[in-house]
This record gives sequence, C-alpha cells and structure tokens, in this order.
Amino acid sequence: MNQPIANEVARRRTFAIISHPDAGKTTLTEMLLLFGGAINLAGQVKAKGQRRNTRSDWMGIERERGISVVTSVMTFEYGGHVFNLLDTPGHEDFSEDTYRTLTAVDSAVMVIDAAKGIEARTRKLFEVCRLRDIPIVTFINKMDRESRDPFDVMDEIEKVLALDTTPATWPIGRGRDFAGTYDIASGGVRLMDDASAKTGDAPQIALAELGAKNPNLDIAAITAEIELVKEACRPFDLESFREGHLTPVFFGSALKNFGVGDLLDAIGKFAPSPRAQESNLRRVDAAEERMTAFVFKIQANMDPNHRDRIAFARLCSGKLTRGMKAKQVRTGKPMSLSAPQFFFAQDRSVADEAFAGDVVGIPNHGTLRIGDTLTEGENLTFVGVPSFAPEILRRVRLPDAMKAKKLKSALQEMAEEGVVQVFRPIDGAPAMVGVVGPLQLDVLKVRLKDEYGLEVGFEPSEFQLARWIASADQKKLDTFITANNSGIAEDLDGDFVFMARNQFYLDHARERAPDVTFTDIKDVK
Ligand code: GDP
Repeated sequence: MNQPIANEVARRRTFAIISHPDAGKTTLTEMLLLFGGAINLAGQVKAKGQRRNTRSDWMGIERERGISVVTSVMTFEYGGHVFNLLDTPGHEDFSEDTYRTLTAVDSAVMVIDAAKGIEARTRKLFEVCRLRDIPIVTFINKMDRESRDPFDVMDEIEKVLALDTTPATWPIGRGRDFAGTYDIASGGVRLMDDASAKTGDAPQIALAELGAKNPNLDIAAITAEIELVKEACRPFDLESFREGHLTPVFFGSALKNFGVGDLLDAIGKFAPSPRAQESNLRRVDAAEERMTAFVFKIQANMDPNHRDRIAFARLCSGKLTRGMKAKQVRTGKPMSLSAPQFFFAQDRSVADEAFAGDVVGIPNHGTLRIGDTLTEGENLTFVGVPSFAPEILRRVRLPDAMKAKKLKSALQEMAEEGVVQVFRPIDGAPAMVGVVGPLQLDVLKVRLKDEYGLEVGFEPSEFQLARWIASADQKKLDTFITANNSGIAEDLDGDFVFMARNQFYLDHARERAPDVTFTDIKDVK
C-alpha cells in the first residue's frame, strides 16, 4: 500500500443515482452539483425542456426526443470528499449502458417518488446493484407534495426489494404541511424554507424550539411519532449498509433543495471508498501503487467539433498521471495517456492526475473497447463488465452492395462502443444486430448515415433470442455448432451464440444438448 495514494482513495466516493423516470434524478443531480460548486445556478431554475438541453445530450436524436441517451460523469468536491457521480441514461432502451455503468460505482442513491413508491425501473436497477452488493442510500423525494405514509413507503422497500430500511431522517408534516425533517442520529430538526433552495439546508434546531418557530405544528403528535419511529424502526448499522443489506432512508425535496445536503453528507460519511476489484488473477486493492483501470463505456462525438471517441475508464488502483504509458492488456500494446480528461459537469478539462475510484475519459481512435483493462504492465484483466443478451434481433439491410466492406467495419466500431451488439452468422448470412431497446436501432441508423454515409434498413429476423453457448467438452460444443449451423453466430469477441426462433426452440435445444450451457449474460473479457 502507498500512503499518499491510500489517503486520496479514502476520500473518494464513486456513485450513481438509480430511479424511475420522473422521480427527480435530474433535479437531484443539479442540486448535488450545486453543493460541489460544479455548477453555478443559485436560484436559477430553468424550464424543463431548456434544462434538458444543458445536460449531456450531445446527439441530435436526444435533443429531438428530449431524452438522455448517453452516460456522463460529474466530478465535484465537497466537505473534503471527491464525489464522482456517474449519470445513467433515463430511457430504458439504453439500460445496457446503465447496467455497465453500475459496475463502475461503489454505492448508489435510490430516488423514490414519495407518492409513487417503488416503480418498475427502480426495481430492475436495484437488482443490478444487488448482483454486486452495492450499498444503497435511499432518498424519498417530492415530500413537498402529497405523499404516501412514510411507514408505508419504507415497508414497501422492505417487502418489494427485500432490503432492510432504517430512517436517517423523519418527515415533519405531510404534503403541503411538510415543514422539515427530524434527524434520527443527532435529534435536531431542520426546517424547510425558501432560502434552502438557494443555499442548501438551514442549520438544525432543537426539537424543543420547533413550537416557537412554527406555531401551526402539533408538537405533541410530532414528538409521539418520533418516539414511535425510534422504537419501531431498525437502528443504523454501518456493516449491514456496506454489505448492501440495509438502506438508510432520507426524506426531502430535490426541487426545494431540501434534504440534499444531509444525503450528500451521508454518502461522504458512510458510503464506501473505492473497493477492491476482482480480476482474473487476483483481487486488486484500490490503494496499490500501480495503476489499473477498466473501460466501462465508450462515447463518440461528445463534442461535434472534435470527432473523437472517448473511453470512460474507472481507475481501480494507483494513480494515473498525464502522459504516463499504460498497457492495454487485450492487445498487449502500450498506449500513452497523454490527455486524460475529467468531467466537471459538462466541461472537459485535462486532468493531471487521478486516483482509484475516479473516472477519466481517454480520447482514442477506436483502440479501446468496453471491458478493456489498462495496467502498468501486469497482465491481469478485470472481470464483471457484462454483456446482456439482446431482446431484439434484426438483420441489417444494405441497399448499396458496393458498401458491404464499409458496413462491416462500421458495425464493428459500433459494437465496440456498445451502441449495439453485432452477430455474424457462421453460414455467411448478413450480419445481425442485437439491442435491448428499439431506440438503440434508431441511434445506429442515424450514426451509420451521419458518420459513415451508409443508408441501412433493418429487417425482422427469424430469430428472437440469442444465448452465448459454451461447454467443458469442446467436441460436444463442436457437434452442437455443426448440427445447428444456420442458428449460430459469432459475437464481437468471436464467442459463439445460439439464436433461436422462440423460447420453445431454445428449450428444445437445451434439452437435446445437456452438456452445452446457454447464458444470457456474458462478462466482457
Ligand atoms: P427525472 O426524470 O428522474 O430526471 O426527473 P426530473 O428531475 O426531471 O423531475 C421530474 C419532474 O418532477 C420535474 O417536473 C421536476 O420539477 C419535478 N420534481 C423533481 N423533484 C421534485 C420535488 O422534490 N418536488 C416537486 N414538487 N417536484 C419535483
């Protein structure tokens, strides 16, 4: 372990926000950035449509549809901590991107609409977090509006997600009468006022002062409820939280910037610093001296003036300095990190150094792919950046046959970026693309036209399902492949997938080939 590196690592918190669309993720993100001084919008609230445009929407398709397609990274400092907030696309068609982003965080904030409780997408994203036991801090948002009973919402979290809850704060008043929160640990009260929207939460006052401050409140009832909460609810337990079994729950209003400061303090205080990461050879500790990193996202055209590709890499250990040489383990080739970039809100700035837990953008011209490991020489590869079986398969139709070669390399590049998955049938039939959501196909079409001058269409395919196949017995795998020749394709890495017309065919193939495994999630090597 290297002490200066360990100190830097200890103050880092790398996290994401998971939520259902409209729960308030964007609003909360802006408020968090406000605390970090990363953006300066004190009191300046923009219309939603306009606000969307200030975000990470680099592509026309996003602007047109008012959705966020891409994932971005926001780094800010607050209270002695360095926070790396990894943004995730709001639209579920881009959920693959979100899942991969969740492999690069150490904790997550789950935002729940106080009136709606747990919604479908929150649940799904929570399940992805659970795969890695990521600790979750819960923010029950929109408390300034009519909301459900807080006991009820906590109960729903426990039942639906099978996740223990502990209130960190408790709401005083409901709906229009929402006045503030009681802090369970300190016993202080924070009142919501107009000033908090600009400056963040006001200082705490004692519960005894509450009556004098706000004569409309029924102090006896509030005190009795707080007693009940303390008696009936689980106490906070750091270990249980860190293991992903217990979530501390905060109540607030992102729109009024109320409770956001408490949330951020809690992430600083309780959420884990960058954790050790598994590789094919060993566990890599974040405070190790030598730099290691993995690529979890590729983004093209972030800035229309620079036609470049940025690989987002999460540092897993050591320190990255500008100009250093790293080894790209997959190819064995050295690469110079001459212009790694940090992302402060939406500006890019050149970073001189970064530590484990940080995310840097590495400009490149297609050398880096999702899942790639970078080291200072060691041949290890990080595991756990997954590919998901596509839910939609389409054949790519190219009216201009002269451009087949160009299409092949364009599809290869799009697959390396994770825009779509590409499957090449071994019988020589035209390539298939696989996506999780239909909007991914729209993005592919627009990009093939804009960037490669290729007009393509998509044709329904006879296949609906794709599964990666493997077997401990190579002969049995070969036999299966030969017997199912027209339904076998290779993915980007040359791994074989079996494509089936429907679930019935898939089940049938499984039954006939008990020595072959069929999987719908593949770790990128
Ligand atoms: P996202 O889709 O999760 O990113 O949600 P947004 O942050 O865009 O919020 C969705 C809508 O809810 C917007 O109209 C916000 O102004 C509104 N909103 C967000 N937070 C709050 C809140 O705390 N209280 C109220 N009343 N509205 C909120």
